[in-house]
Parts: sequence; C-alpha cells; structure tokens
Amino acid sequence: METRGSRPELRDPGVGPVLVTGGNGYIASWVVKLLLDLGFSVHATVRDPADRAKTGHLLSMAAESPGNLTLFQADLLESGGFDRAMANCGLVFHTASPVAIRGVADPVRELVEPAFRGTRNVLETADRTPSVRRVVLTSSVSAVYGDAVDMRRTAAGRFDESHWNETSSERHLPYSHGKTAAERLAWEIAGTQDRWDLVVVNPGLVLGPALSPHANPESVRLMRELGNGHYRFGVAKFEFGIVDVRDVAEAHLRAGLVPEASGRHILVSETLSHLGIARVLRKRFGARFPFPRFTFPKFVATLFAPLHGVPRGLVRRNVGYPLSFDNRYAQSDLGMTFRPAAEAIVDHFQQLLDDGLVNPARGSSRRP
Ligand code: NAP
Repeated sequence: METRGSRPELRDPGVGPVLVTGGNGYIASWVVKLLLDLGFSVHATVRDPADRAKTGHLLSMAAESPGNLTLFQADLLESGGFDRAMANCGLVFHTASPVAIRGVADPVRELVEPAFRGTRNVLETADRTPSVRRVVLTSSVSAVYGDAVDMRRTAAGRFDESHWNETSSERHLPYSHGKTAAERLAWEIAGTQDRWDLVVVNPGLVLGPALSPHANPESVRLMRELGNGHYRFGVAKFEFGIVDVRDVAEAHLRAGLVPEASGRHILVSETLSHLGIARVLRKRFGARFPFPRFTFPKFVATLFAPLHGVPRGLVRRNVGYPLSFDNRYAQSDLGMTFRPAAEAIVDHFQQLLDDGLVNPARGSSRRP
C-alpha cells in the first residue's frame, strides 16, 4: 500500500472558531491539540466540562499552545444541545460517538441511537448556524464494509470509498451498523443544502499514544490483551486495517482545511493480522511478555468465541478472510502520508507500559 502524497501546508484560513464534538476522546484530543498548536480558537463539547479527569489534559494543552479553548456541555441525545457550542463556528469536526465492540448489553440504545441521533443533531445544528461552511464527520471503515468476507464481492479485491457496509445490522455488528446509518444520514442532510459541505474520514483500527487518560477502551483493551497473556495459546486469523491516531488527527485537519477536499477518505496505513501485531510487539519488546505465537484453526475460534464475548457470526464471516484497503484517495485529496502500522503499535504499547497498564515482570496488567 502506498504511503506517500503531496502535502499542502495547513494554516488557519480565517474560519473563526472551530467546533470539535466529543473533544476529550482519543482521536478528538489529538485533533484539538493540532488545532490549538496552529493557533485556532477551539470550541470543544464534552458531557461534563467540570469533570477534570476527562478535561484536564485539554486545559493543559490549551495553556501551552498559541490557540485558545472553550469547553461546552453537550450530549448527543439532547436536541439543541450543540447550538451554543457551534455559534459563530466556520468549521465543525463531529467526532463524538460511542465506541464499543464487545460487552454491550443494549447495542441499539448504547451504540446505534447515539451514533445516528447524534449525527442528526449536530448536522441539523449546522443547518441553522449561518457561520458553518464545512462539517468533517468521523465515520469509520465500518461504514465501508461489514465483514472481511464481503471483500470477495469487490471488483479489485480491496475496499475503497465507493463501497458501503451492507451487511451489518442491529444484531450483527451493531457498532458498524450505527456508524453506517450515521454516515448515510450525514450525506443525506448535507445534500439538502449548499451553504456547508461535508467531508468524511473513515479510519480503520486506530492505534498509537493517547493524550487523554480515558482514551478509547477498545484499542487499549486489544493491546493489553496481547501483552497480558490473554492470547498466550494463540489467536484467530483475524485482520485489522491499522492507522496511527496522529495520522487520523492530521487527516481530520486536512479534511477541514484543504479547500478542495471532498467525499469519503479511507484512513488505513497497513493491514496486519492479530498475529502480525503480536510479531511487531515481540520484535520490539522481546520475550518479556507472553505475546501469542500461533494462529489456531477457525473451528477452534468458532467454538471458543462466546467465551471471549465474540459472536460466532463475527468469527464465521471474518476469520481466515484477507482484508485490504485502498488508501490512495486520502493521499491525493488530503495530501496524507501514513506512518507504518508498527510505529502506532509500538508507541501505543510503550505508553501502556510507561503507565503501568501492562507489567513486564508478570506479563499481566495492574488494573482489571
Ligand atoms: P473515544 O475515546 O471513546 O471517544 C468517543 C467520544 O464520544 C468521547 O468524547 C465520548 O464522551 C463521546 N460520546 C460518546 N457518547 C456520547 C454521548 N451520548 N454524548 C456526547 N458525547 C458522547 O473513542 P475514539 O476512538 O476517539 O472515537 C472517536 C470517533 O472515531 C468515533 O466517532 C468513532 O466511531 C470513530 N472511530 C474510531 C476508531 C478507533 O479505532 N478508535 C476507528 C474508526 C472510527 P465521554 O468521554 O463522555 O464518554
């Protein structure tokens, strides 16, 4: 997969304040940092601005940057909740959305509804906010494809921006279903007017160091499980399209600030298997951790999937199938270059190690 592109310089084109929804999130914190470093006035929504455990890192970043930051309270499910935060903003980054793949009791209420209704809420607010010129939506490759087996139906044998997830549902991969419904709705709302344009980024699995102490629990869980021996007897042959969180943040800024940017953008640097990620970690961190060394057969993965909170349908439609993405549009339209996946993996694991979340002595994690 190619990793080079031409890189137009980023600067403030005079769009006024910039709104970032879910500003304390894993990806959004990096977006806020890059904006502050460029001197932007950033409006960030969070669920509770008084919760310093979730907002302290943003305030510290603002204090050390040329930009300035204002926090606003907003919940995805409260209609009208984004009006104050969006007032006078020329550019909106809508990143807020719940992220959870496993262990969700009520997926429709916890994942699909907030993704869909939150997107409607934010985009309808953009519609009634005259200053808005562009909305950048954080979608996902989950809106591009449902399961790896779907790649068989693509003409070129890899996913690109022309593909849509047509196989996820409220029962099968509800997170992906919610992200797909939200992105479709966003394009529908954007198409009803011509004052602001919509630019979408579709990241793969995002890894890399977090600025926020409450960073996305799914990617942290994946790394910790690899380090703490959860997979010491092997992993299923499962592939991930990986991208570094720092590149994802840069792509957001480019999607917002490159005047001619348009459409959807797959953000994936490389595809690696579960075992491939473990190999990268073993090469860098050696034998101190019980990283998996083997792939076990699909029937074993299917048998034991429920014990790990993984639905059997997910194993059936993903394990053993290759995964490949075409990232050329993000390079040509946004001028992106992507760090190698190994950099994201190693830097992410190193951060967990530094924070005591994986323990080299016991190969286990300090906290549950
Ligand atoms: P994250 O750290 O969990 O951030 C999610 C953000 O959404 C948090 O700020 C969270 O607020 C906010 N949020 C969730 N439910 C909300 C609600 N009902 N009202 C208001 N805010 C709410 O996850 P992330 O990885 O940065 O994800 C950010 C975006 O990237 C999401 O749209 C996600 O779908 C997308 N994405 C992520 C990945 C990935 O691998 N991480 C890949 C592709 C796409 P609280 O802190 O208050 O919960």
